[in-house]
Amino acid sequence: MPKPDIELQAKALLKRFYGYHDFRKGQLDIIKSVMSGRDTLVLMPTGGGKSICYQIPAMLGEGCTIVISPLISLMKDQVSGLNANGIPAAAINSGFSEIDNQNALREAMRGRIKLLYMSPERLMFEMEHVDFRGWVDMFAVNEAHCISQWGHDFRPEYAGLGLIKQRLGKIPVMALTATADKLTRDDISRQLSLADPFVYISSFDRPNLSLKVIPSPTKSKKAAYIARLIDRYPDDSGIVYTLSRKGAESINAELSIRGYKTTVYHAGLSAAERDRAQEQFINGEVQVVCATVAFGMGIDKSNIRWVVHSNMPRNLESYYQEIGRAGRDGMKAETTLFYSYADVVTLQGFINESGQQEINSEKLKRMVEYCESPVCRRRVLLSYFNEILDHDCHNCDVCLSPPERFDGTMEAQMALSAIIRAGEKIGIQMLIDILRGSARAELISLGYDKIKTYGVGRMIPYPEWRDYISQLIQLGAIDIAYDQSNRLKVTGYGHRILKGDVNVMLARHQKDHSEKKSGAAKKTSPVNPAERLFSELKSLRKEIATREGIPPYLVFTDKTLMDMVRRRPLTMNEFMRVEGVGERKCVKYWSPFTTLISKFI
Ligand code: ADP
Ligand code: ZN
Repeated sequence: MPKPDIELQAKALLKRFYGYHDFRKGQLDIIKSVMSGRDTLVLMPTGGGKSICYQIPAMLGEGCTIVISPLISLMKDQVSGLNANGIPAAAINSGFSEIDNQNALREAMRGRIKLLYMSPERLMFEMEHVDFRGWVDMFAVNEAHCISQWGHDFRPEYAGLGLIKQRLGKIPVMALTATADKLTRDDISRQLSLADPFVYISSFDRPNLSLKVIPSPTKSKKAAYIARLIDRYPDDSGIVYTLSRKGAESINAELSIRGYKTTVYHAGLSAAERDRAQEQFINGEVQVVCATVAFGMGIDKSNIRWVVHSNMPRNLESYYQEIGRAGRDGMKAETTLFYSYADVVTLQGFINESGQQEINSEKLKRMVEYCESPVCRRRVLLSYFNEILDHDCHNCDVCLSPPERFDGTMEAQMALSAIIRAGEKIGIQMLIDILRGSARAELISLGYDKIKTYGVGRMIPYPEWRDYISQLIQLGAIDIAYDQSNRLKVTGYGHRILKGDVNVMLARHQKDHSEKKSGAAKKTSPVNPAERLFSELKSLRKEIATREGIPPYLVFTDKTLMDMVRRRPLTMNEFMRVEGVGERKCVKYWSPFTTLISKFI
């Protein structure tokens, strides 16, 4: 039974250790549920505030909470973050010496450590040697979707976690994840053998993330766009996701030639190289990581201001999780997705080799629909996660500049007729070359310069054609034969357009005025006083972080610094009131920060 004053106690801990004034929606219900001994499943988007849901109960209980996390490399930061707030936590993993590990375990058994992190495989190992009864209050399973084969990120090492409940039935388990459709959700409960769990599903909307999709970009356009983002946020960081290692390397090269501090992260690197990249990113030594999808899980760096998908992700779950890594502090962040039919072709290729073709093809289709959406993207996205948004968001590209449509029947007929005259044997590039009357050798040698439509679309630039052809594919007038080297075929609907039976409306190609020159971080000095103070506070934070050997955001998040700018605290008492300043950090840091602020004023 929960103690009647549990709510008060929890709130006091929230202020004391984290410096926050109120719980977010759901957090308290989750805390109460697990404190009453009930298994609990928590679904919240990245940045929603899951950690506090198990950390506060850990401190409310007498014993220790075991936290299962998939990535050993991040445990160190998670533990440092807790320690920085004065919370006794430790991790057991293969990266530490066995003596340290045994020490941590002993301390935890004696009740001196409130949160003990370990990987699933480590837990399985320890379960054979250690009796968890008596001193463990709760198990918290992070990234719980990894246990389900239905999910998009199945990890075999999670499969054994059902043993927790089977062997230690009385100890409550809290499973937490940022992504799970209904099927996966039920599967998590089943795989973990949760007993009649309390399920909390929060809204997945992240209104502070702007959404933007740019169709058919060229390589240089992508690089220029990313360069401008970095320029806009010189002190913050961003992530570029690509589908292939080669793609990640190539963007990384483009950006470092322009003088930006960037690095790569992909499966082709050694574990040490990957850890190094992750560390550089967390510590702010690089501004950008160019990564394949393998990057980012569990990174709770708060000042990621932008995410770019250089290629289309394989499904909306991955996409949403990846963009969710931006703006975890709740402040505005920008996300952009570049997509082209080449990506669809690549992804379809992956799917054809995968085990679950049907489901994955369907998911890819929904991803494409999102990219091509003529209505508010957030509405499309949330509806995919079964959530209805009853208004337009005004923070996506469709809301901000709705596409202009025109009667594109003539353009469509040109393209369709060229496909047929070329015997339905050509791909997109050749089609555009024919339409534009290119004199490239391959085209001439195949005799395509002799067909009637050769050069009829000369007045429309290449990128514009690519955009229109994409739309025709999406509209179902053209099919891509993935099994025949991606040749284009005219569908029944396409034939009707050709005959003039139906008209087609196309979205006017949006010219991008983005090819402006940009070079590496020319830092403009902040003009208004608030910005200047913010920037000085950041420098102080960086100094302290370097001295203590921890990432800057573990000293204070940007949001906390912003609150300092707003409140300009001069005394210890005033400093304590800043959001994100708990007891430990107040004692430790009030002096340097208030001194800086008083000098500034
Ligand atoms: P998740 O694990 O769900 O991705 P986190 O637990 O890392 O999210 O929380 C995201 C951010 O929100 C963190 O900076 C965290 O300190 C902050 N946060 C969580 N709960 C609260 C709260 N009640 N009030 C203010 N900030 C909060
Ligand atoms: Zn919108």
